[in-house]
Amino acid sequence: MSLSLPADVSKILADVYGYTAYREGQEAVMSAAIQGRDSLVLMPTGGGKSLCYQLPAMVADGITLVISPLISLMQDQVEALQAMGVEAAAWHGSLTAEQGNQIQAKLQAGTLKLLYVSPERALMPFFLQRLQGLPIANIAIDEAHCISQWGHDFRPEYGQLYRLREALPQVPVMALTATADDTTQQDIIERLHLRDPFVYRGSFDRPNIRYLVEEKFKPMKQLRDYVKQQRGASGIVYCGSRKRVEELAERLQQDGVRAAPYHAGLEHELREHTLRGFVRDDIDVVVATVAFGMGINKPNVRFVAHYDVPRSIEAYYQETGRAGRDGLPAEGVLFYDPNDANWVRRMIEEQQDEERRRIERQKFTAMQAFAESQTCRRLVLLNYFNEYRDKGCGNCDICLDPPTQYDGTVDAQKALSCVYRVSQQFGMNHVIDVLRGSKSQRLTELAHDQLSTFGIGAEQSQEYWQSVLRQLIHRGLLVQNIRRFAALELTEAARPILRGEIALQLAQPRLNVTGKTRVT
Ligand code: ADP
Ligand code: ZN
Repeated sequence: MSLSLPADVSKILADVYGYTAYREGQEAVMSAAIQGRDSLVLMPTGGGKSLCYQLPAMVADGITLVISPLISLMQDQVEALQAMGVEAAAWHGSLTAEQGNQIQAKLQAGTLKLLYVSPERALMPFFLQRLQGLPIANIAIDEAHCISQWGHDFRPEYGQLYRLREALPQVPVMALTATADDTTQQDIIERLHLRDPFVYRGSFDRPNIRYLVEEKFKPMKQLRDYVKQQRGASGIVYCGSRKRVEELAERLQQDGVRAAPYHAGLEHELREHTLRGFVRDDIDVVVATVAFGMGINKPNVRFVAHYDVPRSIEAYYQETGRAGRDGLPAEGVLFYDPNDANWVRRMIEEQQDEERRRIERQKFTAMQAFAESQTCRRLVLLNYFNEYRDKGCGNCDICLDPPTQYDGTVDAQKALSCVYRVSQQFGMNHVIDVLRGSKSQRLTELAHDQLSTFGIGAEQSQEYWQSVLRQLIHRGLLVQNIRRFAALELTEAARPILRGEIALQLAQPRLNVTGKTRVT
């Protein structure tokens, strides 16, 4: 297929947009559109997806329909287009009757070049019917990953969008997204009934985002320290539950951070207020559930922190992708406790649908591999999107502060025998208290201060032992009995270590990763 575009298109690029060159992929995608071909466009956030359908819309005879999930996003784009002198409008539920009539009139007169609609509107029977009488030239579907049930952000109305294709079978469809793994890509193509689409896969790499993973020890404190280090930079903190969102936002406010909570359970007004405040830099940090973020066009977000582990790399990539849209250095930091992974897995298993469980299991396994990786995080991430590289990136915690191994046999023996001495009846914190010789009353009451293992690990920190015990669990030497308050129990595999028959390499605990990798 020819990559070059008609001269009038390049002229619009210069005259209307004032750009001197295309970004990677834009030319190929636009020429597919101009030739009337369906396409699936995967470009990272900030890659320039909008231009891919806007420019062809300006040279097409007829109207380009743009399906977009958020009113604010539509309005931003429509205003930008109108400012450039392009006839564009947004059709959504919040219009007044008069505004609606104006759009109708423009549609009738055939002057409109781009019409943005929400998926709900686009699917209304009267609208679908109306479309058939209009000269629709192209259909663009933004945030197309919402179509896929296997994507991390499925929206039922998106799942119905094939009805547009049915209503307008001759009109080429362009689906665009910044996150979709292979399963999701295939699903988008099938569900939209795309015909032999031109697929453009841009690089998913966001080189200016530094990926960091910090093991959770005292998570609340770790997060607060991290945010304080940011000194007023703009950021988003994602949490798994509404309750935690509110708690964290409050703590940060107490620390003097201009923070606000955001989740779907808060009043609409309040959410809008927070959103506006964030965009205007009146609020520095938004603590949010995943309900926050899509369509927020804020270029100077400097960090995205995850307090809880997301369920897929797609979700993680999309959420961290909101940082550093301006191309300047930014950070994505994940606070990770291997125990959280067990919890996520239990949630996944509780779902009814067998196929869904299978796919979610797979997706989470990949996410867990990212979090527990001993190699470059970016390699793991890109690898997941089938982009292969052989060199570490130099801009992630593993590259900047490589994990080191040491002979941990003696410490493993101390920890394992301590588990044995407390009769395999106690959880991690208790075992650590015994190891470190805690003076707590509970230990005295249980006479655990009389045990031979009491205080044998006093020279090491709480975090150190936590890391050792987690590694022993990870290696299958210990299990946590979830039916008995997560009491630690020895497995068969622990015996040869206890008897001194084999040695054990452990990874040095990585404390304060975010502090160590700080540039200034
Ligand atoms: P995406 O939707 O892929 O996240 P956008 O379409 O919002 O990205 O584009 C990101 C930014 O890049 C916008 O500010 C846009 O104006 C700019 N941009 C897009 N294409 C070009 C280009 N060819 N030359 C210069 N700037 C561009
Ligand atoms: Zn790296």
